[in-house]
Amino acid sequence: MNEVQRYCGFCWARYGPGQAEHSTNQCTRTEGLTVEASEGLREGVRYDRRCRDCWKCGVSQQICKGIEREQTCQWTGVAAVLWLSWFDLSDTQGVLAEGGYQGGNIAAYRKWLGLRARQKVQGAVVSNGMWLLWRVLLQDERVGDQGEGRAVVGMAVVEEEREEENEAARDGCDHLPVAAVSDRRIDAN
Ligand SMILES: [Zn+2]
Ligand SMILES: [Zn+2]
Repeated sequence: MNEVQRYCGFCWARYGPGQAEHSTNQCTRTEGLTVEASEGLREGVRYDRRCRDCWKCGVSQQICKGIEREQTCQWTGVAAVLWLSWFDLSDTQGVLAEGGYQGGNIAAYRKWLGLRARQKVQGAVVSNGMWLLWRVLLQDERVGDQGEGRAVVGMAVVEEEREEENEAARDGCDHLPVAAVSDRRIDAN
């Protein structure tokens, strides 16, 4: 996610990092994909109450501490930019079907994003939106084993883990382990 944030998220999702070196806000390349549209999508998602997602950005609360710490989300609009990019991208249709999305217009998609995912992510009940981020970014076949998709989330997870360790040491509280994926440290370092 950190990596996506440095690029145009729409072009990153559609064409890869090599063709995404401009700002998401200024992208004129991807027809129908605008920050206005992705923000509309983000604001329209209604999360199932059981989901442990940050309702502001859609990322799991294990990762986004926006609500807990009353801060701005680290990747405020990034999830929605990716969701919008993946909505009608042929590469992601298989994953969407796997997640139970049965097709339909953007309203149906928005509704699906907020529903509880069939599968937990790192032990937490999350929305389909978060599940989709996890599924595509971490298991992106296009980028292979040591691929960027893995590193994108990996980096974020490792950073959060360090922060969490410090915090736990300071106030002695025992948080849930944020990242179940300690093996990914290797990728990121
Ligand atoms: Zn672009
Ligand atoms: Zn958030």
